[in-house]
Amino acid sequence: MTGPNVAGVTKNECICASDEEPEQSQLVEDHEAHVLVAEWRLHKFQSPIELKHDDSIHHDHFEPLEFHGHWDKGGKAFLKNTGKTAVLRFESRELPVLVGGPLHEDTYVFEQLHFHWSADDTSGCEHIFEGRAYSMEAHAVHYNTKYADFDEAHDKPDGLAVVGFFLEATDNEDNPCFNKLTNAVKKIVEIGSMTCVPTDCLTWIKEEAQCKGYYTYQGSLTTEPYTESVTWILYPTPIHVSREQVAYFRNMKSNEKTTIVNNVRPLQTPPEHKKLNIIYARSHRKSE
Ligand SMILES: [Zn+2]
Repeated sequence: MTGPNVAGVTKNECICASDEEPEQSQLVEDHEAHVLVAEWRLHKFQSPIELKHDDSIHHDHFEPLEFHGHWDKGGKAFLKNTGKTAVLRFESRELPVLVGGPLHEDTYVFEQLHFHWSADDTSGCEHIFEGRAYSMEAHAVHYNTKYADFDEAHDKPDGLAVVGFFLEATDNEDNPCFNKLTNAVKKIVEIGSMTCVPTDCLTWIKEEAQCKGYYTYQGSLTTEPYTESVTWILYPTPIHVSREQVAYFRNMKSNEKTTIVNNVRPLQTPPEHKKLNIIYARSHRKSE
């Protein structure tokens, strides 16, 4: 998986890509299976999963999902190399919020947006749609404002809403809207480094976010602590970017020597008797 020029992250070093039991998780007894398992494995609604249109429940008259403020200017935006991914956060501005759709009466405020990718352009997404993988997956993480902050919300069943977007690398030209972020990615090669980004750096999700159809289900975080607190909202049509734009992410370092080659969690399979309800939600009204 690693070429001579890329000091690869091995499977054990990259917790996002590892399907092994995370060391930090406590071992507890699974009463159904009578074995000791890591605490998070007791739960049954782990993400990511494969989405299939024909297996989902179709709802044609969902309330529209509304994005407020995600592509506004003002305040400050920063992109940081955490050693596992690139994370975008806003500061000194009213934070974007998400309402409507599957979120009932609650308001979810933007916490951060981050990316998943892998060693090649055909396997960098976490969710699989109709058997197909894409080059990257972006996750816009929001928490429910009925909780004080992300930390308080992250383990509550209605705590988080994560909007996922697929990115597909093509031989075509750069996606000009995505360049605001990739220009910043070039500056955060070192772990822990951070740089400013134009505050309207999320315009590349705008078109997809205004689409009338998306998939939604109740699942989990795909990184530690894997809590089942996420209302997932996934748009099926990939956003096109160039291969070069994706490649910049692979230059980011996970420590002094190695780069972040793969931060994708493998597909999770729910037990037979715990079938996940995946809803294909459509609204006939356009969101903001
Ligand atoms: Zn993620």
